[in-house]
Amino acid sequence: MQEAQNSNFPSALEIITNGLDAHPASEGLLFLKAYFGYKIADNMSNELSSYPKVIQPIGGGGLMIDGAMTSQMLHKFQEIVNTLSEAEEAISELLQVNPKSTDFVEFRESIDLKRQQLNQESENMRSTFNRSPQLAGNFCRGCQRSISFETQKVVLRRSDDSHIEAWHLGCFKATNN
Ligand SMILES: [Zn+2]
Repeated sequence: MQEAQNSNFPSALEIITNGLDAHPASEGLLFLKAYFGYKIADNMSNELSSYPKVIQPIGGGGLMIDGAMTSQMLHKFQEIVNTLSEAEEAISELLQVNPKSTDFVEFRESIDLKRQQLNQESENMRSTFNRSPQLAGNFCRGCQRSISFETQKVVLRRSDDSHIEAWHLGCFKATNN
């Protein structure tokens, strides 16, 4: 518990998980595992919301996508969802032993809700990200060279004839300012 009081949730979770290897059915340890998992996921998602926006309008009808940051965020989202899934598993085990505990039921619901929200958010981001090269092709409208959507900053814009065109951020700014 000392670890937990220092807000060092990841090390606390590791200690609890080791404890569970020795005492798989310990209800106290299962609860702590769920609790620390939830706190870790919560901290990580707060951290994410303080990141700069990775997909945003930049004027001139352009939508800027920071490929490297988007990849990184999607990875982080996945990590949080995995952590929440493990917390949910622990609380589900507890519910098998204590099916009537309203505290556990409520806790599982809040974990589940958070997981769904994060899933939704990351799915939206992922689909915009994955669809971009399909919609806009892999070549920059400005310099005609290829674009790496996963590592570069890219601008998407609807052309006059309603096609979606892709630009390197630098090329877009050079041409449209
Ligand atoms: Zn270019």
